[in-house]
Amino acid sequence: MINQSTTKATVGIIGTGLAGLSCATRLQALGFEVCAYEKSRGPSGRMSTRSGEGWSADHGAQYFTARDPLFIQEINAWIKAGVAAAWHPRLFVYEGDQWRESISNGHRYVGTPAMNSPGKYLAQNLSIQFNHTIDKIFRQNGKWFIHSLETGDIDQAFDYLILAIPAPQATSLVTSTDYSLDGFASGVNMLGCWTVMARFTECPDIPFDAAFINNEIISWISRNNSKPGRASQETWTIHANPQWSQQWIELDKGVASSHILECAKKLGLHCENAEISIHRWRYASGAINSGSGFILNPAMKLGLCGDWLNGGRVEGAWLSGQKLANAINI
Ligand SMILES: Cc1cc2nc3c(=O)[nH]c(=O)nc-3n(C[C@H](O)[C@H](O)[C@H](O)COP(=O)(O)OP(=O)(O)OC[C@H]3O[C@@H](n4cnc5c(N)ncnc54)[C@H](O)[C@@H]3O)c2cc1C
Repeated sequence: MINQSTTKATVGIIGTGLAGLSCATRLQALGFEVCAYEKSRGPSGRMSTRSGEGWSADHGAQYFTARDPLFIQEINAWIKAGVAAAWHPRLFVYEGDQWRESISNGHRYVGTPAMNSPGKYLAQNLSIQFNHTIDKIFRQNGKWFIHSLETGDIDQAFDYLILAIPAPQATSLVTSTDYSLDGFASGVNMLGCWTVMARFTECPDIPFDAAFINNEIISWISRNNSKPGRASQETWTIHANPQWSQQWIELDKGVASSHILECAKKLGLHCENAEISIHRWRYASGAINSGSGFILNPAMKLGLCGDWLNGGRVEGAWLSGQKLANAINI
């Protein structure tokens, strides 16, 4: 049932990754008036896909799993809408110079036709301003105001403000004001990730679709076109491990790429004839134990949600957004 006292409250949400989208859709369903701001051209954040003619590569989240009944229900709705499907890769593990088949048999899901499809689906009935990097927030006379790097002051004032962005970005927004929050993001050590995408004209002779790699620069490789609904060109995504990525996050892209491809070659993925692109994720992974899965300061009407407050990963991000919305509605 909608709480009548908050029906007309306005909410500004910064960030339209899965946490922001989840919070926005839930709040809108509860009767709040929601407007979201996103610095990129589209929604979905780290659940992202790069594509070109005949190829695509998920270069952020690779797949998602679901344990919580609410998230399982949400995934079923996505599957019904055609924006997600189960993925059954031939999955290997590399450890101590040995390959073995993975014995992990949990369900894995991906967005279809791309990892950002569930995000686009959630965004379709929301008011979102893209290409808006919010670089200043402030509160006056009980209302929140925000400023966009690209367009200046935003006219609309909000009753509530929600930061659905990674911890370091939220910290810099909040510390540019006097609004500190208890137990806030200072303890979160988010790590980067270097991601290489390799496009082949011929299928490499590799006996698996995806592999977890231990004790190497690379931690994960996967054949993107083994996922349901993908473009057909043979395309592999390679993630460097979080510690190596973080240590070398400022490397020149070409140099980072050559280290990663050298390691790929050692693992049997020869990319000499492939077309290569590389992406630097500054804030890929990391989480704190926040207890509740979100932060809300009811007096200031300021909230935070995101994967980093709820165990990391896609499922945690979605649940964090739902939990924050429900807490605001009390
Ligand atoms: C390389 C990589 C691999 C991963 N693999 C997996 C995996 O296999 N399985 C899994 O479950 N999870 C994986 N993850 C993690 C998963 O992607 C995240 O947990 C989840 O997508 C986080 O969602 P979020 O909404 O919390 O944050 P984000 O997706 O980061 O969303 C934040 C949004 O805020 C926007 N933003 C930031 N600052 C501002 C600002 N100042 N103004 C406006 N907008 C702003 C950003 O552009 C972004 O769209 C991976 C992540 C990476 C990077």
